[in-house]
Amino acid sequence: MQIKFLGGAGEVGRSGILVHDMKTMLLDYGIKIDGHTEYPLPAGRIDACFVSHAHLDHSGYAPVVYQDGFPDAFATAPTMKLAELLIEDSIKIHKRKHEHERVHKAQLKTMLNKYMPCEYGKGYEFGEYTVSMHDAGHICGSAVTSIEKYKDGKRLVYTGDFKIEKQLLEGGADIVKSDVLLLESTYAGKNHPDREKMAMQMVEEIKETVDNGGIALLPVFAVGRAQEMLALMNKNGLIERTFVDGMAKTATEIVESFPEFIRNEGLLRGAVEKVRKVRDSRNRLNALEGGNIILTTSGMLNGGPVLDYITRLNRHSRIFLTGYQVEDSNGSRLMQGLPLDIDGRKYRVKTPFKVYDFSAHAGKDELHKYVRESGPSTVICVHGSQENTSAFAEELKLEGFNAIAPRQGDVIDIDF
Ligand SMILES: [Zn+2]
Ligand SMILES: [Zn+2]
Repeated sequence: MQIKFLGGAGEVGRSGILVHDMKTMLLDYGIKIDGHTEYPLPAGRIDACFVSHAHLDHSGYAPVVYQDGFPDAFATAPTMKLAELLIEDSIKIHKRKHEHERVHKAQLKTMLNKYMPCEYGKGYEFGEYTVSMHDAGHICGSAVTSIEKYKDGKRLVYTGDFKIEKQLLEGGADIVKSDVLLLESTYAGKNHPDREKMAMQMVEEIKETVDNGGIALLPVFAVGRAQEMLALMNKNGLIERTFVDGMAKTATEIVESFPEFIRNEGLLRGAVEKVRKVRDSRNRLNALEGGNIILTTSGMLNGGPVLDYITRLNRHSRIFLTGYQVEDSNGSRLMQGLPLDIDGRKYRVKTPFKVYDFSAHAGKDELHKYVRESGPSTVICVHGSQENTSAFAEELKLEGFNAIAPRQGDVIDIDF
């Protein structure tokens, strides 16, 4: 078997892994957005495309393989529904910025018509293989992909983004036995703080802010963090004071329509019933009255309603950053004390902010646990900085695994 790394190797973003065996299979095909868009290397002709989850760094470029060919597609139903929302939005953003559009609606449509909606844990026949998808515990519909040979039962497993520890709406990743393991390694160098303690601390600070007549502004990713934060507000009796704006609204409706793919669905359903949805500029003014909580996109402050809100907060307000802030994003500029870039204008934020690590990725110990219990002979570390993935591969070698940290463009031959 030959594996080529089209992107997402030694970096986070534009994931794309091409597997040549008796079939040619593409595991994820995403884009990297930091200021401008970066794409993975070309995939060529493939037999099937597997999409691990909806985030654009995994799904955003997948439609282009449906330009001339019609490969099979495997993903869970929520992944495809959510990817459709995110990809359509990214097409719109490219148009607005007059950037060259590489992904087109027609390709997306073909892909949506072509795909097999996978249920967790069920095997699907594909040539000489049985393929299956398992809960990855990252976001709604996220999957660990397993490709198993009929002949000898050997298994290639691709984790995609995953988390073993439970979140409010995610029950944690299934650990799947493997011979070759393609492992995300975003946090190979770090453990996350105690999630429950941190959540309680944030809830207390939000209460303090709104009781003081301020606005608690939570920039959130539309898919994943928005629903998790809505559930947290509901759990702590704050949902009646919460407004939701931007793409988070539609994403939440989609997630809610797949109760079999979420944990504590009642918590989310209750939140959706009680949260106040911002539909027009008058609603936005209401939201900005003191004493409210606002959940809105974009999570990295690069666009969306959050940029409007952030310039209109009263002096008692606070900003709560709950998501990963990629380098060069407005969110990372805020964290460094630099002015934001809002439509080409520089804007210095005076509102105090705090960062909370609500990561939906496995921390260092969870990564080790996955490797140990999955039991592969070969581990390939992807989806992490070159520094992180190389150091992690070295650690795994000391534990007796054949571990590799590839770079973009690398091709490796594997006995499979
Ligand atoms: Zn993700
Ligand atoms: Zn990712």
